[in-house]
Amino acid sequence: MKNFDWIVVGAGITGSMLSYELAKQGLRVLLLEKDPYYANATRYSYGGIAYWSGVDDFSIQLCQESRDIYPQLSEELGEDTEFRELDLMLTIPEEKEPNLIAKNYQKFFVKPQLLTPQESSEIEPLLNPNAISGCLKLPHGHIHPQKTNNAYQQAFLRLGGTINYEEVTQILSEKETLTGVETSKEKYNSKNVVICAGGLSRSLLKTLGITLNIYFTHSQLLLTPTVDIKLKTLVMPAILNRLDIEEKSGDSELKSLWNSPDDQIISDVMEPGAIQFLEGDFCLGQISQIRTNPQAKIDSNVAEKIIRKGVGKILPELQDLPGKLHHCLVAFCPDSNFLVGKIDTIAGLYLFSGFTSTFMFAPPLAKRFASWVMEDDEKMPSLL
Ligand SMILES: Cc1cc2nc3c(=O)[nH]c(=O)nc-3n(C[C@H](O)[C@H](O)[C@H](O)COP(=O)(O)OP(=O)(O)OC[C@H]3O[C@@H](n4cnc5c(N)ncnc54)[C@H](O)[C@@H]3O)c2cc1C
Repeated sequence: MKNFDWIVVGAGITGSMLSYELAKQGLRVLLLEKDPYYANATRYSYGGIAYWSGVDDFSIQLCQESRDIYPQLSEELGEDTEFRELDLMLTIPEEKEPNLIAKNYQKFFVKPQLLTPQESSEIEPLLNPNAISGCLKLPHGHIHPQKTNNAYQQAFLRLGGTINYEEVTQILSEKETLTGVETSKEKYNSKNVVICAGGLSRSLLKTLGITLNIYFTHSQLLLTPTVDIKLKTLVMPAILNRLDIEEKSGDSELKSLWNSPDDQIISDVMEPGAIQFLEGDFCLGQISQIRTNPQAKIDSNVAEKIIRKGVGKILPELQDLPGKLHHCLVAFCPDSNFLVGKIDTIAGLYLFSGFTSTFMFAPPLAKRFASWVMEDDEKMPSLL
């Protein structure tokens, strides 16, 4: 059996960046990932960084730390994250009163600029001005999600970290103290395990009899090959219905459904959005469904038609681009922006997941997590 100071479960963006930050502190870290093809939320993400979205002192501070981290991240990691600043265009449906929608954004520390349909299409010529009553424009950051994930992993390996492609099947403990993990191939010893398993964090915790307010959506999106059309901004809806359905997941009635997973669609939203990466390929999205079984099957043909129609209304030239439908789980927690900290029922067990705005919140919190581990475990938040 091999020994490590820390084992990190899941090599999406959260697990890769946390592994890197822990290894930077001189710790021996093992990162375990079950899927060598990375069909996860990170690979299928838009990669937007919502610097503007802080609402209180702590989240504003995290936004500012994130703003400092990204511009120098490619240099620090030694690989290109494709970081850039770009405009976020939040579209307001034609039947909605723009000023009312804009009011919902006054809580953020950076206020959006309200644009008429005409002004919106001057900034983003692919937008259909007849389908919107306006846009909210915000300054946003952007990286290539999978390239950034890979950059963190390569930097982690250079620090002496280990990445193994094995599924964690069991987290091992004795007398309420963590001892390691068992995978599909072998057992590893460690006194510390952090779960970064995205949408599967909930089921992994359940194997230990632990239930936390962490859930997941089934997200569906289209990826295209490189095409000649040019989208200048990141386009998303100003009304995020997904946040409403996520918030309701914590209701007691729905909580019982989460405890007996099945395939039924509890709620379903389509939020037309698009981003073009620097190589010219697009991610078009996204449908978010709440279904409590993480293995529930998606009807790809239906999902593709819905996404094409929804995106086509706002961005007509993108409707018929060649592309393939993908599906992944996205973790969320309804009553906070993230679940980061120790799970006191088992000494040595930690969670780093459930972020509302992962690319914004996770980098500064990964740094904090590593410094709490090294300097001051008392500061590590308790989740149970
Ligand atoms: C279409 C779309 C657009 C998005 N846009 C944005 C955006 O603009 N900005 C933003 O901040 N966020 C965005 N998100 C959300 C963001 O992408 C995710 O929150 C983030 O990538 C989650 O990272 P993660 O590491 O928690 O999870 P994941 O990337 O899902 O990684 C978890 C990993 O854990 C592995 N795993 C699970 N169980 C085990 C096990 N037992 N053993 C070993 N490995 C295991 C999985 O295989 C997976 O690779 C978007 C998501 C989607 C789908």
